[in-house]
Amino acid sequence: MQKDGQKVWSDVCSRLKLQVSTSAFRTWFSGSFVLDSKQDGGKVLLVIGLKNNFLKEQVENRYMDIVARAISECGYKDTSAIFVVANREVKADSIGAPIFTGIVPEMIVKNIRSDSLNPNHTFSNFVVGYSNNLAYLAASKVAGNLGGAYNPLMIYGSVGVGKTHLLQAVGNQVLSRVLDSKVLYVTSEKFTNDFLESLRNKTQASFRQKYRSVDLLLVDDIQFLAGKESTQDEFFHTFNEICLSGKQVVLASDRHPKELGRLKERLVSRFLGGMTADIGLPDLEMRMAIIRAKCAERGIKLDHELVSWVAKESTGGVRELEGMLTSMLAYMKINAGKATVEEIKSAVSSNRPSIKNPPTPGRVIEAVCRHFKVDSISLRGSSRKAAIVLARQVLMYFLRTELGLPLEQIGDLVGGRDHSTVIHGVEKISRLISASQKKKDDILRIQSLIHA
Ligand code: ADP
Ligand code: MG
Repeated sequence: MQKDGQKVWSDVCSRLKLQVSTSAFRTWFSGSFVLDSKQDGGKVLLVIGLKNNFLKEQVENRYMDIVARAISECGYKDTSAIFVVANREVKADSIGAPIFTGIVPEMIVKNIRSDSLNPNHTFSNFVVGYSNNLAYLAASKVAGNLGGAYNPLMIYGSVGVGKTHLLQAVGNQVLSRVLDSKVLYVTSEKFTNDFLESLRNKTQASFRQKYRSVDLLLVDDIQFLAGKESTQDEFFHTFNEICLSGKQVVLASDRHPKELGRLKERLVSRFLGGMTADIGLPDLEMRMAIIRAKCAERGIKLDHELVSWVAKESTGGVRELEGMLTSMLAYMKINAGKATVEEIKSAVSSNRPSIKNPPTPGRVIEAVCRHFKVDSISLRGSSRKAAIVLARQVLMYFLRTELGLPLEQIGDLVGGRDHSTVIHGVEKISRLISASQKKKDDILRIQSLIHA
């Protein structure tokens, strides 16, 4: 069975090679391998291992349909593939192990690495300047000496300034030195959900095992812990345990710990007991350096006038800067290098979200209602009609991606739904967008209504 699986997957990979670019194939599929395969009532299921969670998410979001098509184009009927995170070395254990039964088997679960680090977030491609050098130095120091002087290290700053990048750079650096280090990266929401689920399923012991046995715990966006008392208590204990055993915690937040509000005093003082480093908005000089670095990464040489124009126009965080640069490069590509500097500037400006009119929940609701021709009462109501459900999920998606609202608040705005419904909705729309250009265009249309 295992052998047949190998043959199927290698045929599928040969097919994929013809259908996606060489670099895409290398990035997403070159490390994939058959972890298991099962034949069940004429149906074949391949369990494909990928190195980390980031690869798994990307492959699932972007390539599920392409993989399915490649399988059927290779002539394999009733065959499907699922992806799991696994190390190639442990594969040998799985041969002859109980085969797939619809739930991921224990032997696979054991090998799933719980980190979901984006491998592109490294120290080497992090541009350092006045606004972030303290945070950078502290983070690199921590990566070189876990559990040392800065414990916890707390990085704070407004959206899009590079907190997640730096947090994950610590993790990637540690993993690149010692491959089997236990690095766990989670958002505080994931921590909260895992904790609540462990209470519901009475699996606190494995929850604690997962969070307390790590060498490095990276918790992102801890502002979402505000107001969640029992989770804060659990976090406090997790935290103490890790620090006591000489291991490291690094946190990121959009505010200084003292300004977090609705956070228990003892947790705040624990956070302040280590090192706090803020990241500010990049100044003009640094914005230019970042643009040059991002162009160099893509092998593009941008006209100096355009570099300084983008740097002057984009005065927010690095994410905004990247967004502007991406839309500029896309425009230049479409016009095959023939667009003049003035044309490029005006195309990019007209594409930019309006700063005068920052989106609010009200504007988002209005835009979604207009696009789907539904009223806001049905959106908040209990209708399960497909069209309404879709509109509701799109609303959740925008409240999350455009406004960055916490899940609970989104739940309230869409008629008192719980956070797991919101997570499901947001994920569903993200998947739809990556699978279909038409859906993506719809989303862009709504986005322009929001920013109009
Ligand atoms: P935050 O978590 O603070 O909201 P992110 O870490 O997600 O921000 O950063 C937003 C984007 O900007 C990411 O693509 C990140 O790689 C990039 N970025 C941020 N700061 C830098 C920097 N100093 N050098 C290079 N890229 C950066
Ligand atoms: Mg972040």
